[in-house]
Amino acid sequence: MATATRTEDVRWDLSDLASGADGARRSWTELVERSADFATRYRGRIADLGAAEFRALLDEADELEQIHSRLQVYTHLRLAMDATDPEANDLATFSRERSAAIENAVVFLGLEWIALEDTPAEALLASEELAPYAHKLRVERDEKPYVLSEPEEQALNARRPTVSAWQGLHDRQIATLEIPFDAGEGVQPQTVSTLLSYLYRSDRALRVRALDALLDGLEPRGDVLAACYDALVGDRLGLDRLRGFADPMQPTNMSNELDGAIVEAMMAATEESFEIGRRWFRAKAELLGVPQLELADQYAPIGEARTFSWPEAVDAVDRSFARFTPRFSEIFRECLDAGHVDVRPRPGKASGAFCTAVSKDVLPYVLLNFTDRLRDVSTLAHEFGHATHNVLSLERQTWRSHRTGIPVAEVPSTFAQSLADDYLLESESDEQTRAVLAAERLENAFAAIFRQTVLARFEQQAYRLRSEGRALTAERLSEVWQEHQLRYYGDALTVADGYRVGWSYIPHFIHVRFYTYAYSFAQLVSLLLYGRYHEDPEAFTPRYLDFLAAGGSASPEELLAPFGLDLRSTDTWRGAFAQLDALRVDAEALARAAVAR
Ligand SMILES: [Zn+2]
Repeated sequence: MATATRTEDVRWDLSDLASGADGARRSWTELVERSADFATRYRGRIADLGAAEFRALLDEADELEQIHSRLQVYTHLRLAMDATDPEANDLATFSRERSAAIENAVVFLGLEWIALEDTPAEALLASEELAPYAHKLRVERDEKPYVLSEPEEQALNARRPTVSAWQGLHDRQIATLEIPFDAGEGVQPQTVSTLLSYLYRSDRALRVRALDALLDGLEPRGDVLAACYDALVGDRLGLDRLRGFADPMQPTNMSNELDGAIVEAMMAATEESFEIGRRWFRAKAELLGVPQLELADQYAPIGEARTFSWPEAVDAVDRSFARFTPRFSEIFRECLDAGHVDVRPRPGKASGAFCTAVSKDVLPYVLLNFTDRLRDVSTLAHEFGHATHNVLSLERQTWRSHRTGIPVAEVPSTFAQSLADDYLLESESDEQTRAVLAAERLENAFAAIFRQTVLARFEQQAYRLRSEGRALTAERLSEVWQEHQLRYYGDALTVADGYRVGWSYIPHFIHVRFYTYAYSFAQLVSLLLYGRYHEDPEAFTPRYLDFLAAGGSASPEELLAPFGLDLRSTDTWRGAFAQLDALRVDAEALARAAVAR
């Protein structure tokens, strides 16, 4: 393996994106001109184009979008490397204006395509020339019945600043919340996310106090936070009436390309399986030596995992990928060797982890904040699940057609995590580390599947109440919230009364309605695919590589059909819960063995 992967401080090499800030500025200016020229040649002409001309237009738009993407990624990564860098900030300001100009120049394309009558549109879609773009073009036209006249759309756009103001008020209420708390170094003001991070500590008293402090701190802001949510839900319902959406979930389902029947079958199977979670909570109480699990114990560690150095993590992920398919390992190494991974945390560097696609001829970039923890190894595998998906789909698809919605995008990342987790479970000799790994894997799956479904059901009820003319007050939201928590946790975990305000800090409710179920979907599909892989690895692997290479060129339902998955059937989803329950049994056995020592 190349030397870059052996050194500890591996940073991004951005030279594949731009030669520097000045070079990027020149490219931005050039792209603005090219986009304007493109618009001059094609604006107002979409309805007159034959299939070959329309194809040439789409190919050119695809090329412009990739240059745009490369420049945007450059700007974004410069800031992610150092948010305080003046050159990066100046470039970001410069880019924002250019980016808006480019988008405005090409917006006609989507509008004219949607405005086209069905008969000529169908003729174009049936042509061989447009095959590489057909699916995305069809999806765009699905919106047609819900688009209003131009003046109406303009009037609706005019309310955007008000909508943003409600969202901004909510964000500010949460971001500025400073709760006095003593985590062992004297009383200090602490943020929501810091307090939540104590829930993963082994000190029980600390966990309980942190959760109490968080809930007490949120309580006085409940009225304002509820008012923000009430205003946004009211606005969205009003918009739905004007556009003619039958169900508040429909806009999200449409952008996910999933219909209501699929989402409902999945959520119903999930609720049916809450008992899997409860069995784990009962066992966990026993393992932690407490009579009954409380909310503050939900993510408590059982045992302590060893640390992993960067070279060890690279080796584990590489081997776990290679034994699935050599292609994964090749992509992983290529990205590392190209300097497309930024490994360690530094002051000013962005937090968290992400993988960003660039274009057909540039490998994706990955950001990590690797601190030698076991979960950092899983994160590395997760981000490279995205990277392999990007690379393989861009090999076969156009830029436009490679992109997928979140439900499909999170499948390869979750799957890659399973590959790495299984490899570590087999190769790791430290019993505590294996126990922690199996428990974390299970609890992450619970958080994505059960908890996100509970959140989606809470949202459904909130929209129902609001559409019946009832205000979403803090008190009402708290009642609904507690009711849904009880449905999940049952008698297996004590939900403190103070948790009533638990709805108040969740950003997804405020920013993208029903966003949360996409994570349940991805986790469950990944479990199903992983099960298929174990049944017959030889038949599975090429089919899975085809699925990755297909990118977003078909709907999730069509993409998953080759695996024999009927997403409309509750039975399909039940299969995923059989897999999840098997993970629970393994995690419990490993935890018991580790605790017995
Ligand atoms: Zn992801």
